[in-house]
Amino acid sequence: MTVPVFCGIVPPHILEHLVAHAEDDAVREAAERSLALDALNRVHRAEAPSTPEGIVRERVLDTAERTVCDDHHTQRLPGRVVRTEGAAPVPDQTVDRAYDGLGATFDFYLAAYARHSIDGRGLPLDATVHYGQRYDNAFWNGERMIFGDGDGTLFNDFTVSVDVIGHELTHGVTQYSANLDYQDQSGALNESVSDVFGSLVKQYSLKQTADQADWLIGAGLLAPGVHGVALRSMKAPGTAYDDPNLGQDPQPATMAGYVDTSDDNGGVHLNSGIPNHAFYLAATAIGGFAWEKTGQIWYDVLTGGTLPASADFATFAAATVAAAGARYGAAEVAAVRDAWVQVGVVAPA
Ligand SMILES: [Zn+2]
Repeated sequence: MTVPVFCGIVPPHILEHLVAHAEDDAVREAAERSLALDALNRVHRAEAPSTPEGIVRERVLDTAERTVCDDHHTQRLPGRVVRTEGAAPVPDQTVDRAYDGLGATFDFYLAAYARHSIDGRGLPLDATVHYGQRYDNAFWNGERMIFGDGDGTLFNDFTVSVDVIGHELTHGVTQYSANLDYQDQSGALNESVSDVFGSLVKQYSLKQTADQADWLIGAGLLAPGVHGVALRSMKAPGTAYDDPNLGQDPQPATMAGYVDTSDDNGGVHLNSGIPNHAFYLAATAIGGFAWEKTGQIWYDVLTGGTLPASADFATFAAATVAAAGARYGAAEVAAVRDAWVQVGVVAPA
């Protein structure tokens, strides 16, 4: 049976920690409501077709086709349309950030990999903002992006991080390509690929090289006073936050810390730290803009049509080494292989 992909950018282990340990009653209640809403949307996701039919177009355009709706905190999707493609900015900055983030992701995939939208066929990009009440999450429901406002105490508005938008929309790219099973190592790869291309959307929009990038997922989401910089770090998994309310970032950077658990589909948001770190190591070794060579190698594997949906880390690693050789030379092959050796997925030669 296929496990439905439901990924809130805030993984369940953080919200569960808040329910158990939050000092502030309002924060705890927001976390409880967010977990309940996530559970509801996970069920909806399981009942929906896994790959909705894209709209077949006579001509695929080189521009995004965006629609942003406002839920007005009612949980009645899709909400009222508040900004459509080409329309002027509106007074609500949340609407405009969602619109811009969808556009940044569209522009990134088109410029870097000549991919037209997440399905490669110009799928319109839809989003709903102000979802629920003080909802502590953002997710892709298979058809649209949905953003909460956050509780305002620990979490800011979820439209603030463009890499979060890139992460969630990349779940759509994966859905239309390798469709990695959302369980155990293939599930952690599904998560990692979203972090990789989410971070690359940000790096591309800021024109940062691998050395200049922060390699954080969700920078800006944590409110002032929270002890942390983001939800995850690809550069140093396990160091993104250490806070009385949120707990300590539990992501491993190498196989030595691999987490065996049945929670969260086998720790898909935990063990993703390992392939995340491999990408960071490869990208910094190869140097330059990470979306160019290293991103292209990962993209070739994701969309090449030969990666099994059940791929484990070793299978994915071997595929990236092969892809590096197919497109580039010995230096890139060595950098990619060495990255996987450093995280303990590939044995040293
Ligand atoms: Zn995800």
